[in-house]
Amino acid sequence: QCLQYNKRYCRSQNKRIALHYGKEHKMEKCIFCKIAAGEIPSNKVYEDEYMLAFHDISPMAKVHVLVIPKMHIANVDGITEENSEVIAKMFAKMGDIAKAAGITNGYRVISNCGSDAKQSVMHLHFHILGGQELPEKMA
Ligand code: 5GP
Ligand code: ZN
Repeated sequence: QCLQYNKRYCRSQNKRIALHYGKEHKMEKCIFCKIAAGEIPSNKVYEDEYMLAFHDISPMAKVHVLVIPKMHIANVDGITEENSEVIAKMFAKMGDIAKAAGITNGYRVISNCGSDAKQSVMHLHFHILGGQELPEKMA
């Protein structure tokens, strides 16, 4: 099942490969894939075999945590019947992650998808914002 960057990219076992004009070659991991693999350090809040939660490098609230799947999914548009189990697991852990980050009085979960939403990292992530009263909501 192809879950990588787009339909040309596939994951076979632990090997990341790209199918480019029929040729197989190693592909460059995205920044959050590198964080998930421990190749770039992060301030971790929670980790299991499916997901990683870590503090945002540029926090927009007193507590700002990012929850990412270890598997590369570009954004909400990349969620499918096949990979949605990991998304369910992420949401099942959301409350525990917020609590582990010190949030006690409610939080907001946001995922920016695509250009108008100003998505800047093309690896699915859910922002958990809390630890303070948040500004007026948009949704
Ligand atoms: P987006 O704008 O795509 O919804 O959110 C991307 C988020 O990732 C931003 O809030 C940004 O601060 C955060 N971010 C980008 N690069 C890094 C990084 O290397 N480490 C951490 N911890 N956060 C990052
Ligand atoms: Zn990635």
